[in-house]
Amino acid sequence: MQSDTNVSVLPLRSGSSGNLTVVRHGDSAILVDAGLPSGRALDQAIGEASLEWTQVEAILVSHLHGDHVNAHTVSRCSEHGIPIYIHEKNRRMFESRIFSRLDERKRARFQGQALLRTFDGESFPVGPVSVMAFQVPHDAVGLTCGFRLDVPCAGGRNLRIAMATDLGHGGNGLFEDFVDSDLILIEANHDERMLADSGRHDRHRVSGDGGHLSNRQAAMLLVRALKESRKPPSGIVLCHLSSDHNNPHLAAATVREILAHHDIDGIRLHVAPSPHPLAVPFPLETRSSTGYN
Ligand SMILES: [Zn+2]
Ligand SMILES: [Zn+2]
Repeated sequence: MQSDTNVSVLPLRSGSSGNLTVVRHGDSAILVDAGLPSGRALDQAIGEASLEWTQVEAILVSHLHGDHVNAHTVSRCSEHGIPIYIHEKNRRMFESRIFSRLDERKRARFQGQALLRTFDGESFPVGPVSVMAFQVPHDAVGLTCGFRLDVPCAGGRNLRIAMATDLGHGGNGLFEDFVDSDLILIEANHDERMLADSGRHDRHRVSGDGGHLSNRQAAMLLVRALKESRKPPSGIVLCHLSSDHNNPHLAAATVREILAHHDIDGIRLHVAPSPHPLAVPFPLETRSSTGYN
């Protein structure tokens, strides 16, 4: 659904088997991560988003785990001439671990079009959208980033979309990057009890400071961000849910309960992946304080 701002977010794939979020403004789109298992899976996702590759302005890469970027991603960038943005500190690893896996023709085509773009701590433009990356704690090689996108819309307004999908904890003032957002996408990877009881051999890595954010940790980050915000976001999207140690109902219920405990309610919660674009801001007339989808 598009609102009158013509801006929407579609969290089409989310979780350890692949991540792809479409930020659409007018006829153009920015992808945040596009780590799917094959080129065909990427083509299918673009089709599901009712997009053509020619409408994709850029792909922003949060970090170098294969569920966020891989050789299939770069291959499609090469074929369609789409710039891919990575943190400057991830450039060497990107080149040696991902780019090197493309065949020579695709590498030459990619380099000939200068499709690799890097960012650092400064904001940068992608078309009319201003993008700011911020570092989050996670155990990928190189740096892991969240993004804030300021998208201009009618009336001279900017809509702010803040997102972070892989992070081990929400401390150290990280909440500040989510203050005053119109839409927040935040990881709610696992239920702490389900993970602890699972016997999974790497559960300490998942729950540790370089792993993934639990439902409770996501809620606490949101509480801090929303308490500091001048207005509530029109929606929150819970992302990167574990298929083994979480479920959409539990994630939403846990976050809603903790927000309510801090006197925050009336914000629409969504759980990724979603097949439907979420208008930003969500249209007032259909806003609900009770449901989530
Ligand atoms: Zn991931
Ligand atoms: Zn990751």
